[in-house]
Amino acid sequence: DAVFYVVATPIGNLGDLTPRAVDVLQSVALIAAEDTRHSGRLMGHFNIKTPMISVHDHNERQRLQTILDKLAAGDSIALISDAGTPLISDPGFIVVRGVREAGYKVVPIPGCCAVITAMCAAGLPTDRFVFEGFLPAKRSGRQQKLSEIIGETRTVIYYESTHRILDSLQDMIDVFGPDRYVVLARELTKTFETIHGDHVQALLEWVKQDHNQQKGEFVVLIQGVEPVVMEGFSAETLKVLDIMLAELP
Ligand code: SAM
Repeated sequence: DAVFYVVATPIGNLGDLTPRAVDVLQSVALIAAEDTRHSGRLMGHFNIKTPMISVHDHNERQRLQTILDKLAAGDSIALISDAGTPLISDPGFIVVRGVREAGYKVVPIPGCCAVITAMCAAGLPTDRFVFEGFLPAKRSGRQQKLSEIIGETRTVIYYESTHRILDSLQDMIDVFGPDRYVVLARELTKTFETIHGDHVQALLEWVKQDHNQQKGEFVVLIQGVEPVVMEGFSAETLKVLDIMLAELP
């Protein structure tokens, strides 16, 4: 039966494409790629000659029908994005939902994902975390989003682009104050991979001092705040307190 594969590709280092991913990309009838020219280079490197069509943010709905027609004809398809795991701050959600709803099997082929790659080396708690995708492009929107996580006890993770890294760190200082601990994971798996953490004010100074640290792709990880421990209160008391607090203006 036709299968729809969701295949992770490297986030920089070509050695990170798994043998299983290569097998799948070679064996399917069609590859649905976010940017066929971009992915063409990856396919060339691995000598994969499978035909490609584009599936990106602006044509996902109409491509769904093409994909369903292909699957109905018995052709298996692999979805890839420009880098890392499709659907993670990348296109694919609409297609995957539609393919599942139509009753086809969706098989994930796991591999790189920048958020997980960053987290496993950042030295921040990983038992609970929140992934927030990209921060808004405008300062007011960014500060609003950041103010929503002031009291967050879990590690918070953002994707950030080279254009906005200085502004975003400044916004974090404005919203959290200078002392929140933040880790920058830059150019993961690539030649200039850097993973550096400090209190956010000191971190911004460090990034400003070195132009190279402002270039490339970033994952930003923000340490959660210590949970407030209310010792000596019964569970009942805490519950009542909670209800009363919710009523406060
Ligand atoms: N689907 C991808 C994944 O699985 O990680 C994410 C795609 S998203 C459009 C691109 C963003 O991911 C970049 O702006 C950056 O924040 C992050 N990213 C991707 N590759 C990275 C790398 N090698 N180092 C650090 N961040 C990276």
